[in-house]
Amino acid sequence: MKLHILVCGYIQVSETVPYGNSIDLRNTAKQLAAPDKNRLTMPVCAYLIEHPKGLILIDTGWCRDISPCGVYDLNAVNKVLPAHLSALFHPCLPEGMAIHEQLAAMGIRPEDLDYVLLTHLDPDHVAGLKHVNKAKHIILPEDEYFWACRTVYKTRQPWSLWYDQPIERLYYRGSPLGPNRWAIDLFGDESIQMVNVPGHTDGQAAIIVRNGGRYVLLAADAAYSPRNWQEMITPGFGFAREWQRKSLRWIAEMAADPGCVAVLCSHDPAIKAGVISV
Ligand SMILES: [Zn+2]
Repeated sequence: MKLHILVCGYIQVSETVPYGNSIDLRNTAKQLAAPDKNRLTMPVCAYLIEHPKGLILIDTGWCRDISPCGVYDLNAVNKVLPAHLSALFHPCLPEGMAIHEQLAAMGIRPEDLDYVLLTHLDPDHVAGLKHVNKAKHIILPEDEYFWACRTVYKTRQPWSLWYDQPIERLYYRGSPLGPNRWAIDLFGDESIQMVNVPGHTDGQAAIIVRNGGRYVLLAADAAYSPRNWQEMITPGFGFAREWQRKSLRWIAEMAADPGCVAVLCSHDPAIKAGVISV
């Protein structure tokens, strides 16, 4: 199997977002007001998997209208995101990096995608869904949808980006995998598994892409870089710190497994676009 790492834009966020080690409200207020000089530029990754059962896209990055000329454009951002999320993310999407633009450059039409798997509903992961919503299946864990509809997540996961999209919801089931022992085995053969890693959101999925004894773990936003699990620093943007810790401990175990080819975080500044063989 081939796994393509696609960088679908950037965020510029306070350094406490990845390494805040606390998720209190004071921290959040500081993140919204952070001056440019204290912000880190981080990629927004999606992944395309060439799997024997079809083409699978993981997450979708930013949408073109958030950055029409390919640069940070506050007026355009404010048409897509509420002001507090604009202030948090400072998104930009250079020309050619929107998900449908990258797929077109590879000769792939949205309707050629067999699956789009969404790790969670934060806007940097689902804004581009409108560009690929002709895919045959768009899959989200029910647990992520459930909480997005009912709680404070409404303030961070704008409904306009996902609520009217043709999303199919699948239930997590009991599994040996993950800190919560919940996973969705997409094909029933362990080759693609969505593993619940709570903390950033309750329903967030990490993705395991497995070929025999070898696998890649896509950690989504459970970690921002290996520093989080190597030094046990919890990200400063999330919902439940104890679950952030449990998810990081599980990722550390997986990273130490000889079968683990790589652990990739959606916003790791060290990640470069490219292809990994699994
Ligand atoms: Zn994210």
